[in-house]
Amino acid sequence: MEFRDLKTQYQLHKDNIDKAIIGVAADTHYIGGQQVFELENKLADYVGVKHCISCANGTDALQLALMVWDIGPGDVVFVPDFTFFSTGEVVVTLGATPVFVDVDENTFNIDADKLECAINYVLNNTDLRPKVVAPVDLFGLPANFDDIRRIADKYNLLILEDAAQGFGGVKDGKKACSFGDISTTSFFPAKPLGCYGDGGAIFTDNDECALLLKSYKVHGKGSDKYDNVRIGMNSRLDTIQAAVLLEKLKFFDSEVEKCNEVAALYNKAFEGISGIKTPIIPNSFISSWAQYTILLDSDSERTRVIEELKNNGIPAMIYYKKPMHLQGAFAEVRVGDAIYGSEASLPEELECVVTSDICGRCLSLPMGAYVTDDDVELISSIISKCIK
Ligand SMILES: *Cc1c(COP(=O)(O)O)cnc(C)c1O
Repeated sequence: MEFRDLKTQYQLHKDNIDKAIIGVAADTHYIGGQQVFELENKLADYVGVKHCISCANGTDALQLALMVWDIGPGDVVFVPDFTFFSTGEVVVTLGATPVFVDVDENTFNIDADKLECAINYVLNNTDLRPKVVAPVDLFGLPANFDDIRRIADKYNLLILEDAAQGFGGVKDGKKACSFGDISTTSFFPAKPLGCYGDGGAIFTDNDECALLLKSYKVHGKGSDKYDNVRIGMNSRLDTIQAAVLLEKLKFFDSEVEKCNEVAALYNKAFEGISGIKTPIIPNSFISSWAQYTILLDSDSERTRVIEELKNNGIPAMIYYKKPMHLQGAFAEVRVGDAIYGSEASLPEELECVVTSDICGRCLSLPMGAYVTDDDVELISSIISKCIK
């Protein structure tokens, strides 16, 4: 069994995808081909925002957004403690300070109350300037943007929505990638909308930001690539990847729908079993199910479950094993007296107890449009037996 079955997807759509790739090979517009612009227009329409700017990957997308806002030394970006490394990494790359905020145990997304606590800690105890909050739509579920927007407005913060896993998710009828002042996504193959290599995109309604993003992603170009007015990056989406994405976008919604059916099957199969907490999708939210992640009772239980699944040829993954605040790479980061890299040196306002807890118990199971009823039955029965 595959953790995310990209092989079946390719076999089903092989003719169209092959044609799209070969079309680019023959056409030779490998960089900046018309498929790139067609894709940007389609994605902007899909999400319901004015501008989509494609780029090389989801990490660059985040960094470019922060560059457009001129985020640097002395600035704080609030980042959920439970996320992939990139969300915090780009902040440090630009010399700014990430402040990690605990998440909600039910949604795995940033906890708005704790965000406000962290903002106040920074304001009252440091010389740093709160500038941006970067909520992540973790595992496909949009973050709680009503509360986040209220707090961002109160403290004059910009919102950078990291929808690397969230593309296709919905909140109150609005699509993920439409909730930030700038929003970003990734087309890494295993993400909800994946290409055949690296890729990313940035979304915004702001005309000025869109112009700046187009400059920053091509060496800070002015009137053209050889007129350079700022220090930028080389971060473009290859035409071949755009061509693949245009094909995959055609059946993306039906795949998200299928993922929701698979999630419902898992939920039903685990219903009433103590020792397994299934993911909670709040009312008026739809997840695009980048991951289906359960919570078990303990780390040792999880180890046994993974082993038993493995014995049956079933892959399972731990997203994520280590909270951001304990990552060695952030051990140099200081927020007033607080020092990241160890639990001990964090004041109460910056503690991330929920993240530390769920990192020790979370387990992501095979998910995707090609997970069958039989797969779910097999996986759920193995896990249920194993924890009894
Ligand atoms: C995958 C991911 C990224 C980075 O995307 P890449 O395309 O791999 O650079 C950023 N944030 C989150 C939450 C992710 O899951």
